[in-house]
Amino acid sequence: MSRLRSLLCLVLAALAIPARGQAPPPAPRQRHLPAHFWLVAAAGLAAGLAIGEAGVSYAAVAPGQRAVQRVRVGVTFGAIGAALGAGWAAAAAPYPPGENAPHSFWRDRWNTPLLAGIVTVQALDYTSTRYFRDRGLPEWLLTNSLVDNRAAFIATEAASVAAAIALAYVLHRTGHHRWERLFEAGYVGMGMVSAIANYRYPTVGHALF
Ligand SMILES: [Zn+2]
Repeated sequence: MSRLRSLLCLVLAALAIPARGQAPPPAPRQRHLPAHFWLVAAAGLAAGLAIGEAGVSYAAVAPGQRAVQRVRVGVTFGAIGAALGAGWAAAAAPYPPGENAPHSFWRDRWNTPLLAGIVTVQALDYTSTRYFRDRGLPEWLLTNSLVDNRAAFIATEAASVAAAIALAYVLHRTGHHRWERLFEAGYVGMGMVSAIANYRYPTVGHALF
């Protein structure tokens, strides 16, 4: 037996030891979508698009930029509305008989800090956007008039937090717990990068987004 083969046998034996005596893997869980999920998400999308179209003023946007700005705002509010609708449908639907979540959504060693992180980065988005707006630089995603209206901007940030948590809850409720945590961590990571870019914007002359 060559040295390589002995090593291979040792590795295989080591891998086999913990497998002995283990229970067979559980059957894959059914992943039901809550009732009326797509309908309520579509209603939220429509409501978000309507707010972006009718509830936001584009009068101060340069005429050549208005169409693209409408699309950006529409996509943003539409996504917020769709996530809120989907989350509402998920929260309203009872679990099917015999099925329960394997961990608490709010009080969980991963979710509790990650959800707090989502709230924190959205607050940082508010402060960092105000930072560059107070130095006269233009907003890219929403409109200048929207982010300069404190009440409207705070409402938008609050809706964004709720939408992000709603999306995480949909992943949780449909049994995608790994994606739930990846989404939350990704949101916090992107939020940190975005906030740093916003604070650097007046110095470097360009924002990341
Ligand atoms: Zn979960």
